[in-house]
Amino acid sequence: MTRDKSFDVIVIGGGAIGASSAYQLAKQGANVALLDEFDLNTQASGRNAGSLHGQIQYEPFEELGTDWAKQFLHGLSILADSLEMWKGLSSELGVDLEVSSNGGLMIAENEKNLRHLEEKVRLENSIGIASRMLSQSELQEKAPYISSKMVGAAYCPIEGKANPLVVAPAFADAARRHGAIISTKTQVLEIEKSATGFTVATSAGQFIGSKVLITANAGIPKLTAGLGRKIPISDVPVQVSVTEQIEKFVHHLVYFTSEKLTFKQANSGSLLIGGGWPARYDEKNNPILNPDSLRSNLRVALKVVPRIADVKVIRTWVGTGNGTEDHNPIIDKFPGVAGLFVGMYPYMGFTASPLMGRLLAELVLTGRCERDISHFTIERLL
Ligand SMILES: Cc1cc2nc3c(=O)[nH]c(=O)nc-3n(C[C@H](O)[C@H](O)[C@H](O)COP(=O)(O)OP(=O)(O)OC[C@H]3O[C@@H](n4cnc5c(N)ncnc54)[C@H](O)[C@@H]3O)c2cc1C
Repeated sequence: MTRDKSFDVIVIGGGAIGASSAYQLAKQGANVALLDEFDLNTQASGRNAGSLHGQIQYEPFEELGTDWAKQFLHGLSILADSLEMWKGLSSELGVDLEVSSNGGLMIAENEKNLRHLEEKVRLENSIGIASRMLSQSELQEKAPYISSKMVGAAYCPIEGKANPLVVAPAFADAARRHGAIISTKTQVLEIEKSATGFTVATSAGQFIGSKVLITANAGIPKLTAGLGRKIPISDVPVQVSVTEQIEKFVHHLVYFTSEKLTFKQANSGSLLIGGGWPARYDEKNNPILNPDSLRSNLRVALKVVPRIADVKVIRTWVGTGNGTEDHNPIIDKFPGVAGLFVGMYPYMGFTASPLMGRLLAELVLTGRCERDISHFTIERLL
């Protein structure tokens, strides 16, 4: 099939960031095509745990230290401002995205971790995020479901959750209402610069675009290698579990400082238990469930929230978490190729997707961003 229609902007990748970008571009009058190799929302955006993050994650903070955290404040401010956008997103898109923002609790079981949390909170406060420490009694008062063995927590009031199954499709539907064309089962094979823009060769024929925005996440290295500058994106398959539906009692996003954990309760009543426990690979190199990780993940969840002892896990799935070396996003023009742009937010891109779409649309349409994006270049990674 050959497409004779040409577009102002071709967006490659129909996850939350690509769909959000297509929506913002189409809303501002651009003639947009959004392409995805599979269906919309089948990769990280539809497999994540739905946490809306607004704090520095504890594991990299402990591993990489304060200097790393200071430079990550640039990326964190993207999350914080994106969280503001989430508040009005359901009504803007006309879909209940199941957004709630009761805050996040980073739980500590010893004094050493509490001291680390205090340092982390100070850094978050330095960019206006109102995180604060909770004593053991304050923690018990706020979240009586947390084990009484825990000694305290950091509370980040801007955090929450949303339903990842509906977000990217809602952005895509809104983009469609503004005239965007959405082409699924359309794998981009090659992006070629032409005199007037780009010829994009796909498994569903050729698309012509004046500009191209790559939001292909795990697909970025392969697509950009074809353009001569392979952007390194790491990928680690991790797993998330969901339980049977039970009475609502968890009102926060819960993390644990000693071991990997994210824990929350969806509107349906199911608990979502994750935190980045690694999956394993089968003989064909496909990521599959790692039972050891599942056991560890559940052990940690039980330690923090003892009340779940009798709750049944009904499903565990695997998704690939994609990262950049410094954990900051990419919001940039592709070096040396006018009209080509790349957008990617590592590890927490679901949270970042509303603002990423807005910033990427601004960059693509005007060639610049009001916001300082100098920390989010491609060159820093090459
Ligand atoms: C298990 C797991 C849990 C997570 N938990 C959270 C969380 O709780 N909160 C949070 O904020 N973030 C979380 N994340 C991270 C978050 O899901 C991602 O950062 C975010 O979804 C990235 O969105 P995206 O649109 O950039 O990428 P994706 O959703 O991966 O979309 C990229 C799209 O590009 C398409 N594509 C790739 N190559 C091509 C090609 N050549 N041609 C056409 N299409 C192509 C893919 O098919 C895909 O649909 C988690 C990730 C995982 C894996």
